[in-house]
Amino acid sequence: MAETEKLICSKCKKELVLKKTNFSYLGHSFFTDLPKCPDCGMVYLSEEFVKGRMSEVEMQLEDK
Ligand SMILES: [Zn+2]
Repeated sequence: MAETEKLICSKCKKELVLKKTNFSYLGHSFFTDLPKCPDCGMVYLSEEFVKGRMSEVEMQLEDK
């Protein structure tokens, strides 16, 4: 199975595109590529992404 599956906005039926998006977690902001709808701007956060990213972020926070 390919790792880059196409994500479609359920509202606009448009293909989501990877866009540098600012997102915050635990009061910290991160600038990262996230699949985003070009039409309505909905950002898709997959569970896998959230889990991976969050553990990364938590490790960085614990480092301090
Ligand atoms: Zn949309």
